Amino acid sequence: MVSEQIQARGIRDAAVLDAMRRVPRHFFVEAALRERAYEDTPLPIGDRQTISQPYMVALMTQELELHAGERVLEIGTGSGYQTAVLAALGASVVSVECIPGLAERAREVLRVLGYGNVRIEVGDGGLGWPPDAPYDAILVTAGAPQIPRPLLEQLAPQGRLVLPMGEDELQSLVRLRRGATGLVEEYLGECRFVKLRGRYGWDET
Ligand code: SAH
Repeated sequence: MVSEQIQARGIRDAAVLDAMRRVPRHFFVEAALRERAYEDTPLPIGDRQTISQPYMVALMTQELELHAGERVLEIGTGSGYQTAVLAALGASVVSVECIPGLAERAREVLRVLGYGNVRIEVGDGGLGWPPDAPYDAILVTAGAPQIPRPLLEQLAPQGRLVLPMGEDELQSLVRLRRGATGLVEEYLGECRFVKLRGRYGWDET
């Protein structure tokens, strides 16, 4: 998976490649799909949600430019796979999921695999998670029609926010970096994510 799907497409960050090699992706998909866990595709995880494609997880993680020990907020825990990759890089992760059943399952898998530096919370992640702010990096793993303002407020100086933003069927992956002179925005390519829900997301329907 790592050499053919991720390195071959240009992901170069050695720490990210190493983390992707270490996290057992098959733990994060349903038993019936386990044989397909390392395929080059998102897969269903129930509740009409998906575990992201491996390459997309690697790209978003690389673009967060994490250093060990940094505090990361993830919006959209889903299966917990992306959460595990962040934790494997030595980040301290708070991940917010709005579907309680998914949060519970992810919590259990992460516990079984022994990731101690993660916490899963249930709520509308568009509001961020104020008790642990500010964060060195914030990652949104659902497509947003707009930048949720609370996330900018919870981003530390020099902090990086990566999110898929745009139409409901196709988004751009965007990185915002808080620098000395304000926010710098970069476009990292096209992507396709499930919809962000809640206050800063799309309608529930
Ligand atoms: N990072 C996940 C990808 C999950 S898909 C993984 O690796 O498996 C996106 C997830 O975002 C879904 O589980 C969905 O329920 C969740 N989500 C959507 N809107 C949300 C919101 N406003 N707050 C928290 N989670 C949200």
